[in-house]
Amino acid sequence: MPILDLRELAGHISALSEIMAGRQARFLVDLIRIRSYTGQERPAVERTLEELRAIGCDDVWMDSAGNALGRIGRGPRVLLYNAHLDTNEVADEREWPHPPLEPVVEGDTMFGLGASDCKAGVAAIVYGAAILKKTFEVFGDLEGLFESLSVVVMGATLEEDAEGFALRSLVERDGLRPDVVLLAEATDLTLRRGQRGRCEVRVRTEGRAAHASQPHLGENAILKMLPVVSALEGMNGSLPVDPVFGAGNQVVTMIEGPHTPNSVPSWCEVAVDRRLVPGETAESVLTGIRSVVEPLGARARIPEQPVLTHTGLRLDGPAFYPGWLLPETDPLVTAGQATAAALWGTEPAVGVWRFSTDGAYSAGVAGIPTLGFGPQEEKYVHTAQDQVDLGKLRKAAAWYALFPVAYNRQQPG
Ligand SMILES: [Zn+2]
Repeated sequence: MPILDLRELAGHISALSEIMAGRQARFLVDLIRIRSYTGQERPAVERTLEELRAIGCDDVWMDSAGNALGRIGRGPRVLLYNAHLDTNEVADEREWPHPPLEPVVEGDTMFGLGASDCKAGVAAIVYGAAILKKTFEVFGDLEGLFESLSVVVMGATLEEDAEGFALRSLVERDGLRPDVVLLAEATDLTLRRGQRGRCEVRVRTEGRAAHASQPHLGENAILKMLPVVSALEGMNGSLPVDPVFGAGNQVVTMIEGPHTPNSVPSWCEVAVDRRLVPGETAESVLTGIRSVVEPLGARARIPEQPVLTHTGLRLDGPAFYPGWLLPETDPLVTAGQATAAALWGTEPAVGVWRFSTDGAYSAGVAGIPTLGFGPQEEKYVHTAQDQVDLGKLRKAAAWYALFPVAYNRQQPG
């Protein structure tokens, strides 16, 4: 088999992407029409499985956490393409220019709930695999590509509430450990090589209940919490700093007590949203916070995040999602740049996300090299303007089709 010039192959792949654009857009329309809030993804998973069969995947299945999966190739080295099917919930439908579940195309823009987060990403990776499969049929074995690697496409569940939990289940419960992970979250066709992490911490004070008419007989847990809240806010400015991500931060986001308006409250609890830089651990976060709140009589813990999959499986786990950063020189980054350069003649910018993704598990916990690339734009994520540019969607599919060839060429042997 003669070695194909990457740019020549890129030309064929871009042409295939245009030819398949109609099918890809129709798949995205169907996905947007299906309501798929976290934990209720089954109809979207089934629609994705149907598309994975239609594009000719060698294997199509649903794993125990209810993720939609399709594989092409039979090689031992696994590239996992991940994008999630669950969406953020609509806060106020009246703010939307079009009904959120009724996709509308204006010019080359498709509007609809989840378009930017993350259903266009799902359409990009499914059609990346579809184009790769077609390319294989036209050009033969592409340097033995599918003997050395497999591409697994994952329409993931649970990302909005518990990013990484469904991916962890695929790896640790179902035993599919990828060699690299590509995340089709919003990057506007640039590369992302890391993210800040996040963590929830609960801080609690205890007092003693008494009738509100005789408060001197009790001990008011809310009053005990006041200096604790100030101290938690005061930690900003002395949290760990990272040269790429800057400083972490924390915000007191909720406060609770007993629902008895005529009693001195016996307890008070606040939730703290903490944003992490790579390297921070659950222990290091708790140690820092405890050193500040325990002298004020409060206790701190990381709560369990309750997670129920649409298959009925419980995946509860600590609400801790570590940050991560892939070195700029990693073969994944250089293969991503080579792919874009072959397709469009320029190397894309390489940056990091401020929000958290399924990479919190793949890179942050499992240490699997992880890279982000998607057609969606971050400014539309979780907004009433939710949309994706269909031209960028076609480009992203082409990138996902060519990437395995560029990546395979960087591997020794
Ligand atoms: Zn997302």
